[in-house]
Amino acid sequence: MICIYGGTFDPVHFGHLRTALEVAEALEAELRLLPAHRPPHRAQPMASPSQRLAMLERALLGQTRLRLDTRELDRGGVSYMVDTLASLREELGQTPLALALGQDAFGHLDRWHRWERLIGLAHLVVMTRPGGALPAAGPVAGLLEAHRVETAEALRARPAGGIWLCPVTALDISATRIRELCAAGRSPRWLLPDAVLNYIEAEGLYRN
Ligand code: ATP
Repeated sequence: MICIYGGTFDPVHFGHLRTALEVAEALEAELRLLPAHRPPHRAQPMASPSQRLAMLERALLGQTRLRLDTRELDRGGVSYMVDTLASLREELGQTPLALALGQDAFGHLDRWHRWERLIGLAHLVVMTRPGGALPAAGPVAGLLEAHRVETAEALRARPAGGIWLCPVTALDISATRIRELCAAGRSPRWLLPDAVLNYIEAEGLYRN
């Protein structure tokens, strides 16, 4: 199984890396961090695509469990996950494919471009995040009810179409908070890998 972990990674931090590792191990999947070129639903990243990629490369150095997939950066333009999953599906044939996302992101899934198509292309693995809640009513709650499975094994049995809730270590770290610390002249050390912090400092990133 291949599992995609999308995000802006502005910058990548231990909240991403630790949860990605836990999801990879829980699914026994190849996990790929997949940076968006231009995210459609939020403010544009402060760091450039090449800077965000450089930070991811530094974060992943010296390990092989997590990989990088640069197709959204290579494609350029606005990054729609439905296009990304369609291109992966074309490459993978019937291999199970999953998209990992936080509870917060899952709660707003119905705002994504052509969101009804996602579940036909991949499984969804919803990571629990501090302060996050699952939708109780509305279209995303309906999707969850129709597709929910109780085990990771159930995802491995078919290419797409399941939603699994994956408990992960609660780490209340966000890129927003790291950018705020940098802008205030305070240190984000130990919220993210040293190699990423060194790059931020060398490039003078997030200082406003
Ligand atoms: P920002 O603060 O700029 O919005 P972020 O820290 O939330 O950024 P993103 O790159 O936007 O990071 O998130 C990518 C994915 O990682 C999303 O699915 C998000 O829910 C998840 N994620 C981010 N931080 C954590 C965390 N601490 N624990 C679990 N999941 C996380």
